[in-house]
Amino acid sequence: MFNKGQNDVKPFETKVWLSSPTMHGEELQYMTEAFETNWMSTVGANINEAEKGICQKVGCKYAVALSAGTAALHMAMKLAGEDLYGATKLGKGALNEHRVFCSDMTFDATVNPVVYEGGIPVFIDTEYDTWNMDPIALEKAFEIYPEVKVVVIAHLYGTPGKIEELQAVCDRYGAVIIEDAAESLGATYKGVQTGNFGQYNCISFNGNKIITGSAGGMFLTDNEKDANKVRKWSTQSRENASWYQHEELGYNYRMSNVVAGVVRGQIPYLEEHVAQKKVIYERYQEGLKDLPIVMNPYDEEQSEPNFWLSCMMIQRDAMCRQVRGERDSLYISESGKSCPTEILDAIESINAEGRPIWKPMHMQPIYRMNGFVTKDGNGRARTNAYIVGDAVDVGMDIFQRGVCLPSDNKMTAEQQDVIIQVVRKCFE
Ligand SMILES: *Cc1c(COP(=O)(O)O)cnc(C)c1O
Repeated sequence: MFNKGQNDVKPFETKVWLSSPTMHGEELQYMTEAFETNWMSTVGANINEAEKGICQKVGCKYAVALSAGTAALHMAMKLAGEDLYGATKLGKGALNEHRVFCSDMTFDATVNPVVYEGGIPVFIDTEYDTWNMDPIALEKAFEIYPEVKVVVIAHLYGTPGKIEELQAVCDRYGAVIIEDAAESLGATYKGVQTGNFGQYNCISFNGNKIITGSAGGMFLTDNEKDANKVRKWSTQSRENASWYQHEELGYNYRMSNVVAGVVRGQIPYLEEHVAQKKVIYERYQEGLKDLPIVMNPYDEEQSEPNFWLSCMMIQRDAMCRQVRGERDSLYISESGKSCPTEILDAIESINAEGRPIWKPMHMQPIYRMNGFVTKDGNGRARTNAYIVGDAVDVGMDIFQRGVCLPSDNKMTAEQQDVIIQVVRKCFE
């Protein structure tokens, strides 16, 4: 398959992952404690301590431990909907056919909860400086849909977006922010941790995140009433009666005390993981610096990412031909040039895991009929098979030219050097 000599490189004996869980020992101790004290449910010391620990790290007043980041986002959508549009009617979501502006280049868990609550996602294009929601496109979107009241903002790959600019646009239109900090726990913007900038904030402890509970997430807020509502909703909305009494729709979203033991054990290692990820990012930056690529960029003056994933984007004139359909991809190898598909093949050939850039939501078949706004105020882009070079928006462009590199914090410097060498060969 390769004609650039990758086959000369010996594959790693154990796979180098994109980003896998890194355990330290205390996790098992806290899980065992849950077992031995029989708090094997959704109540217990691990949950309380994990919530407290996250409040301390992030600097927020309340954290509610849930079964997933997606559950936290769902609860955030429901709160926002009820605050802005009134109580939920049974059978209708709280966002009841209202439009909600959403980051476009993100994982679909940012957006699906909008739909769970009956809202209609409208996607906002991405900027090149941090690969997050473009404040100019957001402004255009409000010009087109001034009635919108909720904006869901993710920080892709752990890099804070242009928070101040986005906040200013939202303030001007009286909209609230739901912050999806699932990928960015530990990242700061102007010295403040992400997870503090929205009216409603969410983090995730999924297995691939910067710290993990094997699963889990949290809803973060400074508003006690909101925290209490999420606590109640996530435990089946039980009223204070001796029997099961219900006045509101309930959910089974609370975190298990066993999972919370893993989270509790991981929290002290957040800074260590961030530091390791930063070293990985900088090693790639150095090792790839004379190639026609850029690393996933960040605003060095305002923000300190958590460097969750290291990514690169190939310059336009250094792209070989690559065609992507809905499920597969073809390319024609060319000397001096490369493309994400070739690089991913090369990385795979040495038993390491890379990944394409998250495919933008406006290009996803499930959301193809939804609104999408670019900084030029354009509506929609083509979503069927396309050829590199004809990208019509920033998200599609970064998707076509970008790659997520193996970013596991257990990867050794020697392994990373081999990966760098193999990526370099793609441009020979
Ligand atoms: C992982 C992730 C989520 C979802 O978190 P889960 O805990 O997996 O439910 C949401 N948004 C983004 C941007 C994510 O990367």
